[in-house]
Amino acid sequence: MARIAYVNGRYVPQSQAAVHIEDRGNQFADGVYEVMKVVDGRPSDGDRHLARLARSLASLRIEAPMSEAALQQIVMETVRRNRLRDATVYIQISRGSAPRDHAFPKASVPTVIVTAKRMKRPDPKAYAEGVGVVVQPDIRWLKCEVKSVSLLPNVLARQAAREAGAYEAFLTRDGDVVTECSASNCYIVDAEGVLRTHPLSPLILGGVTRSVVLELAAAEGIPVDERPFTLAELEDAREAILTSTSSWVMPVVRVGDQVIGDGTPGPVTRRLQAAYHRHVFGNRGPAVATVADAMPVV
Ligand code: PMP
Repeated sequence: MARIAYVNGRYVPQSQAAVHIEDRGNQFADGVYEVMKVVDGRPSDGDRHLARLARSLASLRIEAPMSEAALQQIVMETVRRNRLRDATVYIQISRGSAPRDHAFPKASVPTVIVTAKRMKRPDPKAYAEGVGVVVQPDIRWLKCEVKSVSLLPNVLARQAAREAGAYEAFLTRDGDVVTECSASNCYIVDAEGVLRTHPLSPLILGGVTRSVVLELAAAEGIPVDERPFTLAELEDAREAILTSTSSWVMPVVRVGDQVIGDGTPGPVTRRLQAAYHRHVFGNRGPAVATVADAMPVV
């Protein structure tokens, strides 16, 4: 079945979906996006994703093209037309198309694209045993809180990880402060057993999964401190984790050649995996991440 995309008011087969060559998303990366899960036919943390989208748009002074309710309806219709129940949905909104000029056009209509594909669960072996990461310098701009489609530094960092056979790249600023990853947020459980992650700031994207995981940690009685950690603290950490909408709560057991903790996912990671699994899937399937693979793929 051909995948269906929503583009500017129409649902079209993806092979026929197109935007104008002078779209400012194409010319200047002048646009924002969201990625969300739809689980069992319902958006997972949909409100948080749409709220972040609104913040991203406002930050770039792109007028919201429609209400959140209307956008949510388009998301669900796109999922429905692709005959999915568990889906990963991408929303991309640019400032629209206009003759090339760096400054904003006087009048432009935002371009709206919504696509959906079958939700891919994180690789079960990686989820159970943990992954390795590399370290890359964070060469991004100072508005990382905006979920901008301008992703070149992230692309280069992820490629470096790929070439090293690693899952992700931890990004560092000022030499040794870890901000986040190329497409996920990261955490350590430090020597005192505290879950640490970079605070919300223009240096990181405030992940929806991050906000959920910090709430789950608090509810689990895990001490949380939104305080940056250094590379040295990462290497000395008991546990390390990365989170995102598509990686969920992924254990990190190696940084370069350095083994974290005992080289296996630790107890805090396991508890957060289980709590996140319950948050997303409720009673659907056992609440243990290691058996995520046994869940039916719809
Ligand atoms: N940081 C960056 C740079 C990202 O691209 C992502 C993924 N969108 C995240 C963090 C994680 O965000 P979320 O949990 O909302 O997927």
